[in-house]
Order: sequence, then structure tokens, then C-alpha cells
Amino acid sequence: MSIKLINIAIDGHSSCGKSSIAKHISKEFNMKYVDSGAMYRAITFYCIENDIICNNKINHYLLLKSLDKIDISFNHNAKLSITETLLNGQNVENLIRDNNVSNHVSDISKIKQVREKLINFQQKTCANKNVVMDGRDIGTKVMPNADIKFFVTADINIRAKRRFDELKIHNHKITYDQVLVNLNKRDSDDMGREINPLFQAKDAIVINNTLLNFNQQNELVCQLIKKNV
Ligand code: C5P
Repeated sequence: MSIKLINIAIDGHSSCGKSSIAKHISKEFNMKYVDSGAMYRAITFYCIENDIICNNKINHYLLLKSLDKIDISFNHNAKLSITETLLNGQNVENLIRDNNVSNHVSDISKIKQVREKLINFQQKTCANKNVVMDGRDIGTKVMPNADIKFFVTADINIRAKRRFDELKIHNHKITYDQVLVNLNKRDSDDMGREINPLFQAKDAIVINNTLLNFNQQNELVCQLIKKNV
């Protein structure tokens, strides 16, 4: 089914199913899906690989010098029916989900110049509409005029369990407790940072999916979109 060209912003806490919702919307309404978190993760991965993050410290000078050399793009893999994140042409989709990246990404995403680069790219991507984008500042900063905004959340223990199960499927070596610690840290860093913190836009519709399964959540979101366009 297709609808008039609109943009949809999805924000919310870490691992609360934003990307699953966005992918479903993208399929159902034939919209382009943009994973803004993957961009912050790709820059973080670059920093780890190039010793810009060393002994848990960020070399800001080197990072700012390198920003122009970091090219992020997306490739639709039709065979697997997934969108892959490319960092300077290399497929890093699985690598950027690693816990080492998760542990550093909220510190990288606090940096003004990193946000400027990515927000500029994200705004260009959604300029022609028909985009569903998920992240932390999409409805508040990247697309303040989005036609529909969702703010997604769920109980932290449920989120940690879902994330843990997902990482296990992809063979990441991690415990449930490590996932829980990481989610708590990222939520608090993302909500507490100075530039573009995570908060609920005034006109956002809240989705708390603690007690909803995947299908119930998708049905609810699709109903809300049809009602609001
Ligand atoms: O969405 P995901 O969990 O992959 O995002 C990883 C991290 O990237 C978040 O914890 C946050 O620190 C950062 N991020 C951000 N702004 C966005 C999207 C993600 O700061 N729009």
C-alpha cells in the first residue's frame, strides 16, 4: 500500500525496537528506511579501528582531522532483504553491532562536529520525503517537521533480554548483564548530553511496547499512521 509522501521520525530509548518498527513501516508503506544509529556506530567503529579510541580515551584532535575521510553509505542487499551499512565502501553491518562499539558510541555521539556531519547527511537524505528514520534526535532536530513522530520505549529488563537474544543469534560474545549495563549507560548518556539529547517531542505519539509482541506493535503503528495522514 502507498500513501502520500511523508516523513516519519522514530525516537526512543536504546534497544526498544525502533529499527524493527521502522523496517516494518518501510515495507508496508514503501518508504526509504534510514538507520541514523548505524551512522554513529560506523564512526565509532572507524575510531576503534584507527586507534582514535585507545585505552577507552578518544583522541579528539585525530577524530576531527579524520572526519572528512569517513564516508558512510547504505546498500540494499536484495538477496537477504536487508540494508547494510558501508564504511568507506566496506560492509560493516555486523561489526558495528559489537558490544565494543556499543560501549563507546554514546561518547562519540556527544561530539559536536560528529553530530553536525551526520545531521547534515540525514537532512539531505530526507529532503525529498518518503523517509522513515529512527534515532534519538530525529523528531526534535533532524526532522522537526516530520509528518508523524513516534517515541518508543519499553521496560529496561525486557529491552535487555530482547537485545541479548538478538546478539546471541549473530554470535556476539556477551552476557545479559553486560547488555543491561550498556543500555542503562547509553540511555543516561543520550538523555543527559548537552547537544541534541534524547527527549520526547511534544507532538510525538508514545509507543510503550513492554507488553506488546512484534505483530501487535506493528499493527498498532500502522493503524496510527493511517489515522494520522
Ligand atoms: O540506534 P542505536 O542504538 O544503534 O544507536 C547507537 C547510539 O548512537 C545511541 O546510543 C546514541 O548514542 C547514538 N545516536 C544518536 N543520535 C541518533 C542515533 C543514534 O546520538 N540520531
